[in-house]
Amino acid sequence: MPRATVTFLGGVQEIGGNKLLVEDGPDRVLFDFGPSFSPEFEEYYVEYLKPRSTNPVKDLLEFGLVPRIPGLYSREALGDADLAYTPPEIHGVFVSHAHMDHAGYLRYLDPEIPVHVGHGTKTLLDAIAASTTMKYGDHRWTIFEDGHPIRIGGIEVVPYPVDHSIPFAYGFLVRTSAGTLAYTGDFRHHGPRAADTHRFFEAVAREEVDALAIEGTRAGPDPRHNFTEEGVREGVDRVLAGHRDLALACTYPRDVDRLTTLYRAAQAADRELVVSARTAHLLAQVAARFPTGAVPVPGSSPGLAVYDRRKKRSSVWERPYLEGALTAEEVRDHGRKYLLALDFAHFAELIDLRPARGSPFVHSMSEPFSEEDVSDHVLHNWLDHFGLVFHQMHASGHASGPELLELVRSTGARQVFPIHTEHPEAFGPIGASVRSPERARPYPIAP
Ligand SMILES: [Zn+2]
Repeated sequence: MPRATVTFLGGVQEIGGNKLLVEDGPDRVLFDFGPSFSPEFEEYYVEYLKPRSTNPVKDLLEFGLVPRIPGLYSREALGDADLAYTPPEIHGVFVSHAHMDHAGYLRYLDPEIPVHVGHGTKTLLDAIAASTTMKYGDHRWTIFEDGHPIRIGGIEVVPYPVDHSIPFAYGFLVRTSAGTLAYTGDFRHHGPRAADTHRFFEAVAREEVDALAIEGTRAGPDPRHNFTEEGVREGVDRVLAGHRDLALACTYPRDVDRLTTLYRAAQAADRELVVSARTAHLLAQVAARFPTGAVPVPGSSPGLAVYDRRKKRSSVWERPYLEGALTAEEVRDHGRKYLLALDFAHFAELIDLRPARGSPFVHSMSEPFSEEDVSDHVLHNWLDHFGLVFHQMHASGHASGPELLELVRSTGARQVFPIHTEHPEAFGPIGASVRSPERARPYPIAP
């Protein structure tokens, strides 16, 4: 029986939902814990049909949507599930980054299990929990430092920053008594912090790892046009140069790089970037973790304004940002002064904003995965109704297929486990070291 194993409890032939269990003798450490974006999940829970808050884990276990592991979940989350509560048998959980599919189920964990995150990730999780209905639960939070090893029994974990579409993302080296595993988390190789990704892969190569668990979101067919972050900037510059009316854009809510790109483009075009109170709150919270001036800060960066969305009530956290915020009337009457970042969920504001027909709308997010995407259909209905001109400009958070193969080869890893992908077979050109993992099967870390 090999002493050190890795078991993939999620992220297997699916995008998102990574759950890597590393076991070395009595020591057990888990990496990431969130829901996948898989169709399987949506076969049972969709839109308003959600696991019940009285026993969410029971409702997820029913369909095999979370792993059936004793000593992992809190008593409250299990409720009267047929998996009885037992004291913790997992000795630590590491979170690679603050995206939903990696952190979204933390709230179900036994609060006695230490949760290890980077400083910035903790800041992001706190900002999200304070300004949305998303909660991550009470834990024994432990903050790690870049490059500093953390020891959990016989397992040593070294976190390395990598570049992704949310700041403060990490890959890990995991040293056990019988071999070393590298786990990439989610990463890209073409963003503003590409040098971080590069350094991580250099460390993986130096370590001569026995196993590499690598994300492959963009492995396989990838017909969508992808920009670099500078490419997005050039595209937005062109759009703003060609218009004298209100310009609109939508981004992922925690994509701080993209918000910064939009801010700089707006500055260059003599416009103000107008963001939601939630985005302002996020920027205000994370700014201190960036070098001065690297990200726009509400209240101190010139040309950054907040949009006062029509609501019956405001929450306590958003009130400071709503002082002096711009109303729909102001933005409508002086459209050419503004680039408005408007989330899809807030499109009803368009009814008051009434942008001039032909005004540009920059969709700075992924194109939909499927042609039957309902939200995408609705989005285009709104744009057509108001006569807005659609521009697609996005830099992915993930490395391309050819980059993935090149990076895997650069590591010389003895075993390669493609995860967080619907196309593990696209790693085939790497050769015999590739093992498309089966869910819930323990693999020896040293082959
Ligand atoms: Zn992910």
